[in-house]
Amino acid sequence: MSRTTPKREGISNENEIKLFLHCGQCVEEAISKGVSPADYQSIEAGWTPIGLQVWCKRHDKNIIHIDFQGQQLPANTTIKKDDQER
Ligand SMILES: [Zn+2]
Repeated sequence: MSRTTPKREGISNENEIKLFLHCGQCVEEAISKGVSPADYQSIEAGWTPIGLQVWCKRHDKNIIHIDFQGQQLPANTTIKKDDQER
């Protein structure tokens, strides 16, 4: 499925994540194994018929499924200029 999103100035392509999405089961297992939950979890994200979903591949479970309710939201799909030169 392809989806076009309107581009909007002012949306950064830097990593501005302040709070990570995670699978609760992965976090519990990572803590019990003494490893980083961020390194332990295995997730994928993608478009669905209604929006965007983040899925735990390790446990084959939904983490979050966002319904855009038919709206097309602005997005930045570019990469940083220095990343393009590598
Ligand atoms: Zn998981």
